[in-house]
Amino acid sequence: MHKKILSSVLFIMMVSFICLSQSVSANTLPDVPEKYKDMINPLIEEGIITGYTNGTFKPNNNVTRAEAATMIGRALHLDGNQQASSLFSDVDVSHYASGYIQSAVNKGIVSGYPNGTFKPDDSITRGEMAVIVSRAFELSDKANVTFSDVVGTSYESFISKVYAAEIVSGYPDGTFKPDKPINRAEFSIMVFRALNPVVDKPQPAPAPKPEPKPEPAPAPKPDPEPDKPIATKYVNVTTSLNVRSGPGTSYSKVGSLYRNNEVKVLKYSGDWAQIESGSIIGYVHADYLMDQPEKLRGIITIDPGHGDHDPGATANGVKEKDINLDVAKYVRQYLEAEGIKVVMTRTDDTFLSLGRRVEIAENANSDAFVSIHANAATASANGTETFYSTASRATDSKKLAEFIQTRLVKALGTNDRGVKEGGFQVIKYNSLPSALVELGFLTNTGDVKILLAKKEEAGEAIAQGIMDYYNWKE
Ligand SMILES: [Zn+2]
Repeated sequence: MHKKILSSVLFIMMVSFICLSQSVSANTLPDVPEKYKDMINPLIEEGIITGYTNGTFKPNNNVTRAEAATMIGRALHLDGNQQASSLFSDVDVSHYASGYIQSAVNKGIVSGYPNGTFKPDDSITRGEMAVIVSRAFELSDKANVTFSDVVGTSYESFISKVYAAEIVSGYPDGTFKPDKPINRAEFSIMVFRALNPVVDKPQPAPAPKPEPKPEPAPAPKPDPEPDKPIATKYVNVTTSLNVRSGPGTSYSKVGSLYRNNEVKVLKYSGDWAQIESGSIIGYVHADYLMDQPEKLRGIITIDPGHGDHDPGATANGVKEKDINLDVAKYVRQYLEAEGIKVVMTRTDDTFLSLGRRVEIAENANSDAFVSIHANAATASANGTETFYSTASRATDSKKLAEFIQTRLVKALGTNDRGVKEGGFQVIKYNSLPSALVELGFLTNTGDVKILLAKKEEAGEAIAQGIMDYYNWKE
């Protein structure tokens, strides 16, 4: 993969393109995140990274290759003067970063593309950054990395170096996300750590000292103060968050937390926070904590399955797409009566891709997603079942499915096939709590009779299940 990275260059930086002619005091950049100030402000003060002319730092902006070259060049005191000619067809000598790009290329830190371009405005990724930083700072120690998305790739040896140097860590789910663009804050932190190597690595235990001579008993020392919480935060993940015994993915897992769980932060250790939540004490990556719990917005997306040339199951004279839509409209009616805003993925006989259905729900900032279907199998199979995916907000999704299933079976009097895990795309690749209802079997004459007679009851029951979910969440 990424041959281009090895043969090419990368870089980017956060440094503003519009380099300020005057140095700007870090105090004047109000949007530098508090927890990173002690790493980012020194870089600003040294002129390694600069703010924007409007006095902001824009920590979340992506870093371009030209910015990265500039920042690394400044950090290493490379020659940033513009040269008489440029190495790359897309970097004019008058480009603000042309001097640093040339110097970084000469040092073998970055390279261009085989077609003679440098792509100065492309965003740099975490993996590319690892390549650049390990070359720029001539890192040689390697750690054994186990990130599932790194092992065996061309990034592995570079990431093992930045990881060994404690410049960057992975994510709680055991990945590194090498293709994720890096932002200005993340880039700054990497550069700061590269410039300020860790010196407080654990030392080997000292040899036991000889037995001390008996002395008068010292005054008892006060007990060490227990760690007091320094902040209350909330878990911000779509599925579950691993809590580990130490600040890194190499530590063993001691528990799991779920979206919106409240945690007390006891201390920060690099990118990791030591937290306490209920009986769990351990470390989580600080990126997965948010300041406020997620608020319910009172918006639900209802997805009538299939449509147009995709009829879904067809049996006993009934097309699934039609019954799904009829029931969905009743769900909408009953939810709206409760003051819920309902977003329908379709309101007529239209075809939508599965991905589009999820996109509609996510773009609407829905609290949850419910897809409505009917089943088909042998003539004897019958009953109602509701699916959720452990890949999508498992705890909330399962609850949602349970509430809907309970209400539906009661309202329809159908065979209760229960709540099940299922890998349907619309509930699996979905960042929202989500459930997929199979109302009954169109291939079973008994179920068809019930469904045709009780569309409204089915819609009302699903709406009630959704309201049960809201009540449970609040
Ligand atoms: Zn279906």
